[in-house]
Amino acid sequence: MPDAAAVFRQEYERINREVYGGALPPFPGVDVVDRRDLFAATNTRGAGPWRVLEPFLLSAHVRGDLLLETVRHEIAHAAALLFDEDEGHGPAWREHARRCGARPVPTLDEGDPLRSGWP
Ligand SMILES: [Zn+2]
Repeated sequence: MPDAAAVFRQEYERINREVYGGALPPFPGVDVVDRRDLFAATNTRGAGPWRVLEPFLLSAHVRGDLLLETVRHEIAHAAALLFDEDEGHGPAWREHARRCGARPVPTLDEGDPLRSGWP
């Protein structure tokens, strides 16, 4: 089974190709971190046309079905930041989430089956 960083990269590259026609920047990398207070995060620096995508953060504890959902959620953030300057879970992010195959919701509710493997 490929590791989480490899899954992230594969899914990023697939979505970039199939959904965005290569308009997203090359995969920026992912820092896998030992954190339980978040699933993942998308970071950029700069703003407007100078905004640059930095490596994603991914908790080492995200696995299984939660991993793909998390990856798609973060790719939608990258697209919303780069194309629409949407830094939150606004309408632009929700549209990108839909296109990326993520649920258009900011967080997963307590008790959601996708959270079952979460510590
Ligand atoms: Zn989010």
